[in-house]
Amino acid sequence: MQALWLENNQLQLRDDAPIPNPPPGEALVRVVRAGICNTDLELLRGYYPYTGILGHEFVGVVEQGPEHLQGQRVVGEINAVCGQCRFCRSGQPTHCENRTVLGIVNRNGAFADYLSLPIENLHQVPDNVATDVATFTEPVAAALEIQQQVTVSPAERVLVVGDGKLGQLVAQTLAVTGCNLLVVGRHQEKLANLAARGIQTGLEDAVADRAFDVSVECTGNPAGFAIARRALRPRGTLVLKSTYAGQLTFDASSLVVDEITLIGSRCGPFPAALDLLASGQVDVEPLIHARYPLSEGLAAFERASTKGVLKVLLDMSGKEE
Ligand SMILES: [Zn+2]
Ligand SMILES: [Zn+2]
Repeated sequence: MQALWLENNQLQLRDDAPIPNPPPGEALVRVVRAGICNTDLELLRGYYPYTGILGHEFVGVVEQGPEHLQGQRVVGEINAVCGQCRFCRSGQPTHCENRTVLGIVNRNGAFADYLSLPIENLHQVPDNVATDVATFTEPVAAALEIQQQVTVSPAERVLVVGDGKLGQLVAQTLAVTGCNLLVVGRHQEKLANLAARGIQTGLEDAVADRAFDVSVECTGNPAGFAIARRALRPRGTLVLKSTYAGQLTFDASSLVVDEITLIGSRCGPFPAALDLLASGQVDVEPLIHARYPLSEGLAAFERASTKGVLKVLLDMSGKEE
């Protein structure tokens, strides 16, 4: 089968990747659509060691698996877990000590004609959610994780720093809570997507100091962290949603003095994400900037790493849409 294979920081299109042979408990999924995420770009730059097929945001059709899923469109949670370790047993499977992660840790990913995932990871896509839209389930779920970790009520003043793919989804999911939300970024045209949905937006230098209860850092750069930090009132909560290339330096004493809560956040609930996509409360269409067949996957990556480009999709369906 065809696949985008990462090895020694080099991405190559292979035609000879073996079709996965799912072990017991896993399903064979024919990939129909996949999305390129910043994590993929970071893996390519060598921020984390990984060899294998990239890709973790996908929609596919089950080819081999339990009867009720046969032929159904599915999305899949990316952590394949052991079910035995202390984290699995205490209801925290995303922290499984023995996990593999689709296209990220020791498990071939979705930029291929087929993938294999545990059956328990798969969620059927509702008929009224288009395949392009469902491709965003994983990142929307990750955005929703914030609300599992922090109480966000209408009274809360919440700042989102970053207008990229992640910031856009985080902002839209937070807007659903009715909180007092401001999103800041550097790109008027990206912020305009959010403003069109009635979300208050501004440029980064417009952020008032000590004015927010919660800030969410979605840029992955130290400047974004600094804005998210200074925007918080004492005893505010800083949510880190982006990973950072290398080390982050900050004034730890100021966190102590202001009694700031720092929360790391990743992954999240798929069913809630599918609900939001089905109801149209989160609109991902404006984020789709390009689409390529898998055979042009290298060009797709080039495009996805171009400044200002939001989501690039890979289309394995073989038909022009
Ligand atoms: Zn991702
Ligand atoms: Zn485990």
